[in-house]
Amino acid sequence: RIFGHERANSKGLNMNIAHFSRPFFADLARFQTQQWQAGPLIGGELRRSGEAHSVKNPFDTREPVGEVYFTSDAELEEALQRAKEAFPAWNATPVAERAAALEKLADSLEANMAELIALCTREAGKGLQDGIDEVREAVDFCRYYAVQARHMMAKGTVLPGPTGELNELFLEGRGTFLCISPWNFPLAIFLGQVVAALVTGNTVLAKPAEQTNLVALRATQLAHQAGIPADVLQLLPGPGRELGPKLTSDERVTGVCFTGSTATAKAINRSLAAREGAIAPLVAETGGQNAMVVDSTSLPEQVITDVVHSAFQSAGQRCSALRVLYVQADVSERVITLLKGAMAELRVGDPAYHHTDVGPVIDATAQSKLLAHIERISAEGQLLAQAPLDERCQHGHFVAPTAVQIDHIGQLEQEHFGPILHVIRYQADQLDAVIEEINSTGFGLTLGVHSRNESQALRIARSVKAGNAYINRNQIGAVVGVQPFGGQGLSGTGPKAGGPHYLTRFVTEKTISNNI
Ligand code: GLU
Repeated sequence: RIFGHERANSKGLNMNIAHFSRPFFADLARFQTQQWQAGPLIGGELRRSGEAHSVKNPFDTREPVGEVYFTSDAELEEALQRAKEAFPAWNATPVAERAAALEKLADSLEANMAELIALCTREAGKGLQDGIDEVREAVDFCRYYAVQARHMMAKGTVLPGPTGELNELFLEGRGTFLCISPWNFPLAIFLGQVVAALVTGNTVLAKPAEQTNLVALRATQLAHQAGIPADVLQLLPGPGRELGPKLTSDERVTGVCFTGSTATAKAINRSLAAREGAIAPLVAETGGQNAMVVDSTSLPEQVITDVVHSAFQSAGQRCSALRVLYVQADVSERVITLLKGAMAELRVGDPAYHHTDVGPVIDATAQSKLLAHIERISAEGQLLAQAPLDERCQHGHFVAPTAVQIDHIGQLEQEHFGPILHVIRYQADQLDAVIEEINSTGFGLTLGVHSRNESQALRIARSVKAGNAYINRNQIGAVVGVQPFGGQGLSGTGPKAGGPHYLTRFVTEKTISNNI
């Protein structure tokens, strides 16, 4: 049975209705100059050892947002030990209590929406709508997993057996989960991982992305206020390259949940396999080389709306984002002309301004990699369009949304995590080759299809390897409980986040055969 319909998804916030938007903007204004501080949160105490690292706004790097202290070796050791010792009591806490804490946290995220959105904007360069969506998704994860956990764990499942023998299957936590989250969803994915592990009875060591510690700390503090005990959830900021191997090689970590690159997921797997102690599971959600196939029966105006959203919203910094657009040659001139027009209208700039379409990319490293890719691929292919950047972008990490025509997907040696769309024209009789070409990447995250020929659309959706296929709509923004999210092959291990099977990977099973 699929549970989770016993709650409603969060409504978010409609910025077009003054009744909602006015108080929100007034609230948001309070946080536009605020400075935050983050550091390891161990035993409920914010630690500030070592040097403070300053955090700058990706939109304007002259603007400070706060500072962060990284986790020392002694703090790491202390956190690991506390997490291990806190596990038995947390695992023995009735699931109803753990689920209630998640629901309280969901309410508190909604109550603190303005601060969390200001953090997403100023620390991660996310747009206002993206910020609203982050809070909404984080809230949905809390409420969805709370309902799921209650159903799965409140009592054992009685199984058939010989007369006189009671056979029951129980689910319990595995121990301590290490949750390693990305900067592109600094609130939603951070909390999605954490609350899934917590509600199933695990203690959690959360290692947020280096770029987004401030929002992670606020979310952790709110979780503590909602009733998650201090030692049950601890935060460990610091460079992944240093902290990651120390944590994954420690046998007190009994499971890992990771969202990030495929290479890092494989490195974590190797580290878990090489160490002593229990065999630890890895839940990994990694990258993609996501395609959209547009045939000659599609509606070009709708195609363009969905292409622009899928490729450029969140500055293309979503695992789900569209990277390669396959357009049937018969309609390609029209589609490309409309695409150029739409891109010329994109407003690139301050993410905190609600008319902005595309904000900055996360940091200077991402910016220079993306710019180098645009230079290389434009020389190999043909630059089709580039959105205008104005002078407000000069102090930030901006990459102009770009469309380049190429010949085949193999020209992309890796995922390019930013606002770059590659366009390939195909002939009607090459559709099978297109499907094969998309599958040849080994990734399998999202797929878009635009067609009014239903049997063709479904054939494409079924034969392309993808965790999430979307027909005649955009291919980003999976909704909890509606489009469980996650990929196949190089794109991840599953189970899907926001889906009915996600929690199963965080638990261990025990059968008791009782003959008393
Ligand atoms: N779930 C997000 C979406 O559907 C993407 C998550 C990610 O980028 O990791 O757009």
